[in-house]
Amino acid sequence: MTVSLFPFSLQKTFVPANKLGQNQSENEPPLLFIFSNNQILVTPSLSGYAIPRQLVTQYAGSSADYIRHIGLYDNTPCYLILAEEQFTPVQDCQWMNLRALHGLLSHDHYLLAGKGSELATWYQTNIFCGRCGTAMADHSTECARICPACNFMAFPRTSPVVIMTIEQEDNILLGRSPHYPPGMYSPLAGFVDAGETAEEAVLREVKEEAGVKVKDLRYITSQVWPYPHSLMLGFRTEYDHGEIIIEQEELEDVRWFNVRNLPVLPSNISISRYLMECFIKDKRGVF
Ligand SMILES: [Zn+2]
Repeated sequence: MTVSLFPFSLQKTFVPANKLGQNQSENEPPLLFIFSNNQILVTPSLSGYAIPRQLVTQYAGSSADYIRHIGLYDNTPCYLILAEEQFTPVQDCQWMNLRALHGLLSHDHYLLAGKGSELATWYQTNIFCGRCGTAMADHSTECARICPACNFMAFPRTSPVVIMTIEQEDNILLGRSPHYPPGMYSPLAGFVDAGETAEEAVLREVKEEAGVKVKDLRYITSQVWPYPHSLMLGFRTEYDHGEIIIEQEELEDVRWFNVRNLPVLPSNISISRYLMECFIKDKRGVF
């Protein structure tokens, strides 16, 4: 098994369907990513849940269902199925929200399910052409939807978000949103605007949300956040200058914390926690 150097990436290889060669071997029962009514069908496993395979689900689709071969994961074919209705699953399979499966599916199955969820959203929002209104079709060789009338092509959408630490020696500036659990603070984050670089977005978001200026931006890693199609780009930055001015519409508090006196931190499934761990490791010398 190949272990990825990156914490939020697939550990084994995935080849998208439109990149597969003629002689690609497919020697495993397929993984079926079956979505309906914003839920995914999963089957119990020793460690929680797993993505079902054809033999387990005995999937009997209706003609209204959308089925797409999305690629090969470790030589296992993967299919996206958008079921028109939530059929009653066989054996112990059950419908669940993807978010609730964080930590209950294997690392790779969860990432593949997120990929499937993003493709499901893409299909559901591109049934008709956004330019002329004609019914769209799947492109024959690209991962795209194409309009037969005007040739407009719609590719799966990814919405970049920047998330960043703001550090000064042993201290870190964190924000608190009103919907956070009691006592929790997190690095600031925000969507990248149209026509904006990730670096520009970091500088703008920090200024907007906390009123301060940062410098020495360092890109760390990224995480797919498929709710519905974000890509989190993680940075560490150094505080430069400015007084804290809180953006009241989004945050109820922004304040400095010392590494030895940190608040409740976000869950360890998220890049926000990973960035915090990087900071803590640097300053304390331990994870
Ligand atoms: Zn069109």
